[in-house]
Amino acid sequence: MDIQVLGVRGLPLIHEGDDLSGLIAERVTFEDGDILCIASSVYSKAKGYTRRLTDIVPGEQAERIASGTQEDPRFVQAVIDSSSEILLEYPFILSELPSGHIGVRAGVDHSNIEDGMIIYLPPDPMAAAEEVRDALRDISGRDVRVIITDTCGRAFRRGQTGIAIGWSGMTAINDYRGDTDLFGHVLEITEEAVVDEIAAFANFVMGESHQGVPAVVFRNCGRWKGHDAVYFTPKEDIIRCALKSMEKT
Ligand code: GDP
Ligand code: MN
Ligand code: MN
Ligand code: MN
Repeated sequence: MDIQVLGVRGLPLIHEGDDLSGLIAERVTFEDGDILCIASSVYSKAKGYTRRLTDIVPGEQAERIASGTQEDPRFVQAVIDSSSEILLEYPFILSELPSGHIGVRAGVDHSNIEDGMIIYLPPDPMAAAEEVRDALRDISGRDVRVIITDTCGRAFRRGQTGIAIGWSGMTAINDYRGDTDLFGHVLEITEEAVVDEIAAFANFVMGESHQGVPAVVFRNCGRWKGHDAVYFTPKEDIIRCALKSMEKT
């Protein structure tokens, strides 16, 4: 596989109401099967999933958590509003979102937006990816697969990486179970989270600061078979269980 990776340059600062798919399609000649990664921050800005901190009134829980984490209580309120369940309050808020994604500060972001503004993750990132895919089919006539990414911390290791929070046109996981290795052994465990691997490399191409590259195209990635059950069920998730049992003690 000779995979090509193309950062989409020359996009303007994105604001609510902008036609993000159209702006990207003006700058890329898509081919069938391309995978387009879009930073959740720009998708959310285009859709208006942003807020002014001065419009947020923090409640009691936000004030209490903020006094521990030394954060702006209005920012903490935004994190609480994004969360379906808070798993950890200190030293940072770790919570689950309605989409199933678990992340630090619920992915609420104050970088790459005007002072005093915050960006939320898209509330339904799977639908977001599908909407961009449909729009690109209408504009370009091409079958483009889409991944919505965010920069995210991880357990056990220092350093953030890009992950996929929504995808369309492919399964999240390439299921290798039942396949045979070089020696004919049947693989019993391997389910590769391909959307996260692609999102991580896209995130590397995007950068995190003033690069202005919120979209990356991958060409020639091939196709795979698998499934979308990327989030552990609460019982399967041993880290989540450990956090829960800490809470009780
Ligand atoms: P996140 O990982 O989804 O939180 O997105 P980041 O804030 O890390 O931004 C990823 C990339 O998109 C970086 O190259 C940013 O400079 C770029 N970026 C963010 N917002 C905009 C925008 O409105 N316009 C353009 N052209 N680039 C942006
Ligand atoms: Mn950011
Ligand atoms: Mn982010
Ligand atoms: Mn980022």
